[in-house]
Amino acid sequence: MSLEFIDLQAQRLRIKDEIDTALATVLDHGRFVMGPEVGAFESALADFGMAKYALGCANGTDALILSLMAWRIGPGDAVFCPSFTYCATAEAVAIRGATPVFIDIDRETYNICPQSLEQAISEVKARGVLRPRAVIAVDLFGQCADYPAIKAIADAHSLKLISDSAQAFGATLNGHHPLHWADITTTSFFPAKPLGCYGDGGAILTNDEALMTEIDSLRIHGKGTDKYDNVRVGLNSRLDTMQAAILLAKLAIFDDEIKARQAIADRYIDGLKDHVLRVPKVKNGGQSTWAQFTIEVQNPASFAAQMGEAGIPTARYYPKPIHKQTAYAHFPVAGNGLARTDDASHSVISLPMHPYLENDVQDRIIETAIKAAKI
Ligand SMILES: *Cc1c(COP(=O)(O)O)cnc(C)c1O
Repeated sequence: MSLEFIDLQAQRLRIKDEIDTALATVLDHGRFVMGPEVGAFESALADFGMAKYALGCANGTDALILSLMAWRIGPGDAVFCPSFTYCATAEAVAIRGATPVFIDIDRETYNICPQSLEQAISEVKARGVLRPRAVIAVDLFGQCADYPAIKAIADAHSLKLISDSAQAFGATLNGHHPLHWADITTTSFFPAKPLGCYGDGGAILTNDEALMTEIDSLRIHGKGTDKYDNVRVGLNSRLDTMQAAILLAKLAIFDDEIKARQAIADRYIDGLKDHVLRVPKVKNGGQSTWAQFTIEVQNPASFAAQMGEAGIPTARYYPKPIHKQTAYAHFPVAGNGLARTDDASHSVISLPMHPYLENDVQDRIIETAIKAAKI
């Protein structure tokens, strides 16, 4: 028997009727672009994320690009972000013509290291070529970055702060969502994310009304109040009505799914902590959405091969950090290199994780992983 890395069908079966009804409603009213479900979902999402405003957009990458556009971040500007993340974090910066400056990670949480951030800001200021403008903190694998420390640094240097919560929408630290500290939270509804739709989608959350108004215009070609007068150069980046309808049904069970993911993560940690190099560690006071369950082993390639032989899929996030990738290798990094990022990239491997993973299946994954980690 082979199993799924993320079993989306199990979730679909649970809310099949709700989703079928929601889709039939959209097909009947026919307002496929900016239909009523988009606004309804945006207000439900804002409530869930304790934000004043939420705006849907086409995907999580656009959510980042639109945020940078709203602040007119572009050529000559430095944006500080981790290298140990999905490429889109840095891509959004580079596509704006700004310069991503890569920061090292905290070795336990895999999130931005505040000391490395502080060092990179000083270095950019000392060189005097780029203007420091913003920090993009990523909530990797589902857990919040160290926002109290990062926010203090951003404030001290007058930098905007974005939380790239594509993997962690719904995660909290000391009971607060990242937006408690950040100017903007962005997220992605790519199907494999904890809150995913059935295609591409994304959103931007903020408490700043002026920023919300600007981004609302930017996502629809820079629209103004007069239908025939566009007041700025924007994008076509809307969330589809169908996806909003699907997301409304999924958001209704999301809290419950986060609890289920936590129980599965706890079982994994119990079963594996004495047998692998590292199991995930969530900061005290943190609630992760467990987008990934990432462990470290001596030899991830042979571990993956062993698991594969037993029909168990694994994935490597991330064997090649962004600062080592062809399109990004020329951008600056903090200090003399990102030693902790490089170190983590050599040993991480992620196990199947979704809210519907059954105990007997998980026990088989744990047993196989224990054997595979010895090789
Ligand atoms: C998935 C992801 C994105 C991009 O989201 P898309 O919807 O695929 O554009 C951005 N940042 C991080 C950290 C991600 O994991």
